Amino acid sequence: MSYNKILTKIAAEIAPLRNQGKQADYIPALAKVDPDHFGICITTTSGKSYGWGDIDTPFSIQSVSKVFSLSMALAIMGEELWKRVDKEPSGSAFNSLIQLELDHGIPRNPFINAGAIVVADILLSHLPHPHSDYLKFVRRMADDPTINYNFEVATSERSVGYINAAIANMLKYYGNLENEIEDVLHFYFLMCSVEMTCRQLSHAFLAYAHAKSQFEFGDIRLTSSQVKRINAIMQTCGFYNDAGEYSYLVGLPGKSGVGGGIGAVYPRRYAVATWSPRLNSKGNSVMGMKALELLTTYTNESIF
Ligand code: GLN
Repeated sequence: MSYNKILTKIAAEIAPLRNQGKQADYIPALAKVDPDHFGICITTTSGKSYGWGDIDTPFSIQSVSKVFSLSMALAIMGEELWKRVDKEPSGSAFNSLIQLELDHGIPRNPFINAGAIVVADILLSHLPHPHSDYLKFVRRMADDPTINYNFEVATSERSVGYINAAIANMLKYYGNLENEIEDVLHFYFLMCSVEMTCRQLSHAFLAYAHAKSQFEFGDIRLTSSQVKRINAIMQTCGFYNDAGEYSYLVGLPGKSGVGGGIGAVYPRRYAVATWSPRLNSKGNSVMGMKALELLTTYTNESIF
């Protein structure tokens, strides 16, 4: 069966889930998004793309941005990065404060908020123009210069970002933040606020599917071994305390965000992005996860 046919079949099959879950409303600007969108877009390593639904509507990528920021930090720091942040699944909520205290200020992995806040700190310390360098990198990956921050979303999130501020304070207390707390939070929220469409996100994620070729976007270069490791961290940590369930159901390295987006890769073949704002209790898109589960089931293509 062709991908187009499979996507149509998947869309019909997940339709009954359309009212399940709830969009993220703890960020006021995200509460305004129409929760009834659904889109899925596959971009293959041979340059073809297949889509269904709202694949050209921009959404807030939120924590999917953590894959891009990790890529930059790993390119800059190499293995030294792992002195500041671990690479173990957390088994806890993405914004857990308790775990950070138990781990004495070393976040479990770069995909929970604490880890991504440390990564934001590293980028602030090392990039000449952090805000524009990050955006340039994402634009290059997606091959689309129109991608941008949504300043309203970033400001809205900061206005209620009490837990992330608490996380940043705790990191500072343990000596794991070099920059001013407010500067790090501002950059972290900006990175989360980037808006992309499913088409753009699947294009950007293609870089993680190309195991053999060069990962090189401006000054940011990763070896194929480093790309492999980013995929490993997506597989084990990309869905927080839902990572086991996602792995069991889908079987593709992936990363979710509370904007309802997911980026995933089938190494050497394609990258796929889904978007549907209604989330399950762990903060992951209900329809997106189901669509990916059906995709790997119907195609019989997964990493396992
Ligand atoms: N900006 C969001 C936050 O910090 C990102 C969380 C997510 O997408 N899981 O809460």
